[in-house]
Amino acid sequence: MATHELDVVTIGAGPAGMCAGMYVGRAMLKGVVLEQGLPGGELLNTEVIEDYIGFEHVLGYDLAEKFSAHAAKFGADVRTYHRVEKVRKIDDGTFETVMENGDIFKSPAVIVTAGGTPVKLEVPGEIEYAGKGVSYCAICDGAFFKGHTIMVVGGGDAACEEADFLTRYAAKVYIVHRKGEFRASKLVQSRVFKNPKIEVIWDTVVDAIVGADTLMTHAKIRNVNTGETRDLTATGIFIFIGFKPNTGIIEGHVQHDASGYLITDANMETSIRGLFAAGDVRAQLTRQVTTAVGDATTAAIAVEKFLTARKNGNPAPAPMPMLARGGEG
Ligand SMILES: Cc1cc2nc3c(=O)[nH]c(=O)nc-3n(C[C@H](O)[C@H](O)[C@H](O)COP(=O)(O)OP(=O)(O)OC[C@H]3O[C@@H](n4cnc5c(N)ncnc54)[C@H](O)[C@@H]3O)c2cc1C
Repeated sequence: MATHELDVVTIGAGPAGMCAGMYVGRAMLKGVVLEQGLPGGELLNTEVIEDYIGFEHVLGYDLAEKFSAHAAKFGADVRTYHRVEKVRKIDDGTFETVMENGDIFKSPAVIVTAGGTPVKLEVPGEIEYAGKGVSYCAICDGAFFKGHTIMVVGGGDAACEEADFLTRYAAKVYIVHRKGEFRASKLVQSRVFKNPKIEVIWDTVVDAIVGADTLMTHAKIRNVNTGETRDLTATGIFIFIGFKPNTGIIEGHVQHDASGYLITDANMETSIRGLFAAGDVRAQLTRQVTTAVGDATTAAIAVEKFLTARKNGNPAPAPMPMLARGGEG
């Protein structure tokens, strides 16, 4: 077990973490970016990105490599296969980031960029056809399905909103929902019911995702009341049955919205002084690569100002008003 003293620790090396690491490096601060796997985050699960400005068409893997190389060039110390178990504030006002192997990184500031995880259906074919028909992001992948027949799984706001959105591209969108009514708000539901391109298949679950060669062709679905099974032809399946922000590592109470996303002020600082959050882990309107790196830029620059004020013995600047609304848990 070893203890390391740093200015700032960033947790996660997705787009947000690598961008934060780059700015921390440029600011000549002593920092590390701790990543449990390889750098890239969700980029590594994304086939092609077409909406990152300046890149009309880039493979997720290639963009991850570019981010990683750029961050390293400016001195980011990204440590892969370093899983964070806990981050906690201690009595002297600094943080301890505790690793799986017991190592501790001590720092007065921490940036959490641990992202989130879409809840999976966990049916055969889901992993095999990920990026080949299976998607968890309509904004990201909708445009690949122009004129196609596709399906959406889920019954909450995300499923209904995204099904409506996907009809901009798809000729037909089935919503497959395991219950006989939606959980989505009435307004969102009314858009679905008014949309002639959407057909809802109630009381039905997906048992398997099936394809030919490398592309999905249909799903095997089952009515939960009658047990009747059938094949539903669709070249895409968008799964919106939940998304869990990776916030379990934070010890102690931190303000979050009703879905568990971290609420920050305009400087990306959470309700815990010195603990910043950026990217998909943060409560905000949308979750994209552009927003992740934007958040991270703000967070890293805010950390620099926070540390300067602290070193000079000045009171840290007052927190900015909280931006997001939502239930505090
Ligand atoms: C299938 C799919 C397709 C997408 N397509 C697009 C697209 O086309 N365009 C677009 O703009 N956006 C797209 N997105 C969204 C985009 O990928 C995310 O908004 C972006 O990756 C968020 O970056 P992030 O750094 O906040 O989080 P992530 O990318 O989720 O990175 C978080 C990192 O933190 C690490 N981590 C988590 N917990 C720990 C821990 N305890 N210890 C150490 N490390 C930890 C993870 O391993 C991960 O590497 C897509 C998302 C998905 C799922």
